[in-house]
Amino acid sequence: MAAPELFEAVKGPLMSVFERPSFDGHESVHFFSDADTGLKTIIAIHSTALGPGAGGARMWTYPSSEEALRDVLRLSRGMSYKNAMADLPLGGGKAVILKPEGGFDRPALFEAYGRCVDALGGRYITAEDVGVGPDDMRAVRKATRHVAGLTEGVAASGDPSPVTAKGIFNGIRTSVRRAFGRDDLAGVRVAVQGVGHVGGYLCDFLADAGAELVVTDVDKDLLAAVAERAGAEVVAPNVIYDAEVDVFAPCALGAVINPETIDRLRCRVVAGGANNQLESPEMGTELAKRGVLYAPDYVINGGGIINVAAEIAGDYDPAWVAAKLDQLSATLDEVFERAAAGGRPPHEIADQMARERIAAAKPEMAHA
Ligand code: NAD
Repeated sequence: MAAPELFEAVKGPLMSVFERPSFDGHESVHFFSDADTGLKTIIAIHSTALGPGAGGARMWTYPSSEEALRDVLRLSRGMSYKNAMADLPLGGGKAVILKPEGGFDRPALFEAYGRCVDALGGRYITAEDVGVGPDDMRAVRKATRHVAGLTEGVAASGDPSPVTAKGIFNGIRTSVRRAFGRDDLAGVRVAVQGVGHVGGYLCDFLADAGAELVVTDVDKDLLAAVAERAGAEVVAPNVIYDAEVDVFAPCALGAVINPETIDRLRCRVVAGGANNQLESPEMGTELAKRGVLYAPDYVINGGGIINVAAEIAGDYDPAWVAAKLDQLSATLDEVFERAAAGGRPPHEIADQMARERIAAAKPEMAHA
């Protein structure tokens, strides 16, 4: 990722931990430091109702530990919802590592991080996120077995991006069926914002299905390469919102559906891989008011965690992954069905379904 997509601006006086909205009933929040390696990390476990909290570790230069805490709480709750909607035996957790200033011994830092994960006794399973890669996980593995996203070993699942992209492709088909009443994507115009790991594979799937693509990225070389192989039209990053398309697929940053962009959209469907696409929940309501069908991000982009879950199960089985992806599309369709039946926006229905699934596993975890 080129930039953090998740920070809420610090507004007003700082809140204590329990009172902030993003705390939202977290089971536990752990602060660790290690003087020898310079490690400072926060591990948040939102819910273990459905299984051990699972979610990646993000390393970033946070402006303050306040920002790091904000980020980890939101991400951790998001993993609870994502894992519940993907019907995985996993709860929600996430870690942030405050990137040390200056040079540092990276393997030593990640091994120290592994000891922190290990201290939680399996209540949290870590993997990669922004700023963290497979080499780092290899260092983590020296200190704990509660780690996934490895590239070696019997169950190693490797890069989750192609599976994430496949899930999004399926979800775009589901969304197009709902919005336009058609099953195929031939001639359907799709704008893809960000052609990195997920967006690049998504373009390949869409091009194979005969979709017409409009693509953008801030990385010009990558953009040119993907556009050529997918036969896509290229536009500048700041005009992708104005593209005359059927589907807008955000695959770069979060908060791209916001008061500045929402009235520029020319599409009938927003369905893409980026996390936290809505700047606020109200944006989901505003999309619905404008007749735009929104595929909730943490539902449609659950393919990556499904792939990781196959590794956690200890026996990577591609057939199980494929079946789970099909189930994910069915869940997305159920979200749309319930939204249409109740006259409510899909993001609200998805939140409700996720909370119901978590509550069914552990009744006292139900939230309003
Ligand atoms: P990536 O870093 O490989 O790709 C992101 C791309 O977006 C990069 O090519 C970058 O240059 C581009 N970009 C950055 N700013 C941009 C801008 N303003 N306009 C246009 N393009 C811009 O990351 P990724 O792994 O492909 O993830 C993309 C999104 O999907 C992220 O929000 C991520 O959290 C989410 N996601 C990824 C996975 C996965 O399996 N990798 C799973 C679930 C969710």
